[in-house]
Amino acid sequence: MTKTYTVLGPDGRRCQSRAKGRWGGHRALRIYGRLDCPSALRAIASGGYVRQRVFFADEAAAAAAGFRPCARCCGRQYRKWKTARENGEPWKP
Ligand SMILES: [Zn+2]
Repeated sequence: MTKTYTVLGPDGRRCQSRAKGRWGGHRALRIYGRLDCPSALRAIASGGYVRQRVFFADEAAAAAAGFRPCARCCGRQYRKWKTARENGEPWKP
């Protein structure tokens, strides 16, 4: 049997992926970031984040699902997202 991983697809619904999710996300806050993001690891360590934790195969799926980049570990993407939002433009990673 092939091992699969639960990730969120572009429609924001859970699906099974053959590849492990490479991006983590916070379902309630709708933020995604790196799996080794210091902010995320601290939130996980404090216990509050785990139940909200979701995973994405890639950034495009996270963005399509309505998640925005983390300011801490995805600063460049975050600034692009912020500028696009301020200008009322669509954003893509
Ligand atoms: Zn982060």
